[in-house]
Amino acid sequence: MHTYGTAAVNTRGHLEIGGVDVVELAAKYGTPLYLYDVALIRERARGFKQTFDKMGITAQVAYASKAFASVAMMQLAEQEGLSLDVVSGGELYTAQKAGFPVERIHFHGNNKSREELEMAFDANIGCIVADNFHELALIDEISQSRRQKMSILLRITPGIEAHTHDYILTGQEDSKFGFDLNNGQAEEALVTAIEKPFINVLGLHCHIGSQIFETTGFTMAAEKIIGKLADWKERLAFESTVLNLGGGFGIRYTAEDDPLEPAAYVEEIIRKVQEETERFDMNMPEIWIEPGRSLVGDAGVTIYETGSVKDVPNVRKYVAIDGGMSDNIRPALYEAKYEAVLANRVNDPVEEVVSIAGKCCESGDMLIWDLPLPKAATGDLLAMFCTGAYGYSMANNYNRIPRPPVVFVENGEAKVVIRRETYEDLIKLDLPLQLPQMN
Ligand SMILES: *Cc1c(COP(=O)(O)O)cnc(C)c1O
Repeated sequence: MHTYGTAAVNTRGHLEIGGVDVVELAAKYGTPLYLYDVALIRERARGFKQTFDKMGITAQVAYASKAFASVAMMQLAEQEGLSLDVVSGGELYTAQKAGFPVERIHFHGNNKSREELEMAFDANIGCIVADNFHELALIDEISQSRRQKMSILLRITPGIEAHTHDYILTGQEDSKFGFDLNNGQAEEALVTAIEKPFINVLGLHCHIGSQIFETTGFTMAAEKIIGKLADWKERLAFESTVLNLGGGFGIRYTAEDDPLEPAAYVEEIIRKVQEETERFDMNMPEIWIEPGRSLVGDAGVTIYETGSVKDVPNVRKYVAIDGGMSDNIRPALYEAKYEAVLANRVNDPVEEVVSIAGKCCESGDMLIWDLPLPKAATGDLLAMFCTGAYGYSMANNYNRIPRPPVVFVENGEAKVVIRRETYEDLIKLDLPLQLPQMN
């Protein structure tokens, strides 16, 4: 078993996380159950943040909350001194309810509505990451009518896309996000924005991809952007206070993945930004990054109970669990790979290779193909690792399956931070056509 964070096997052969026996947690809270190893989230956050501090760089590490957005999670991000990225009114609302410091909230998205932008002005958040000309016009209009200043970053597409191991240099960027750096749209956006009386352009933002295992994509993007900034300093007298290089730092889902430590990404980024700004005799900007997956991904574990087992002789054995694409859609959506163990008997020898089926009415609802396991019997507990990012946040009620609870574990204590959805919750928004005939 590859172990993440505080995960360990106790003397009973049970999986333990945050010093708590997972079998006991399953008995107490039921299954499926999402667990988060809080100490590991803190460790990841500090890995990013302390590297900037150590190297004397003014920075913001913003948690991309779409990876897992909840009141408790945002409060944990606050405790660790992180900033926060939101991408919708709903995430902003959650941040407000969490009491998150508004000046450290950044608002992303390629189609923010007027209502969402008004909400950002009402809350007076730290900055809006402006994505397109339509949005720039809206921000200008709202800021003028309120006579309220708003800081923005311009989201640009630098013409570099990272696809895990490959970097694709594109001339004309084919992306729904941001202003293109190559075709002049980014400059046009900058010229437009700096003339607006209530808009304060802090700098530039880019996000080149996700699940990236090397530093090359980030350093290439930094180099390209700083080159452009040098040009803009000369011709437009614009100096960027902030350079935001986005998120996308990879994590280990399976043995195939070989990510770097947070510190390694940060060190390389800082080195490159220093080198390039010195080359052009520019001031060092603040560096902002936006990790999502790499802060919460490997801290999350989903616990399922095994149910039916279907053996198709000479083909494969299906072991079904009590959740599936309703609580983790990533295997169905992206063919995402995961590892898992039997949490109630981790030390038992592997005896067979099985495939883990979800319970949704969809043949594609398979969580893991070809997983080596001890012989699984009905009532075993399956712990699937690394489900902390884009698991709960993409959970849904397909087949009217209630969403599982989320429990934080740390220092031997467990705390429910999202309760289990009930059948009553499921019909809360339904309005009947007629009063039901009770019998
Ligand atoms: C999704 C996203 C992130 C976070 O990506 P991860 O792969 O989870 O680190 C950061 N910034 C922006 C703009 C994003 O869209």
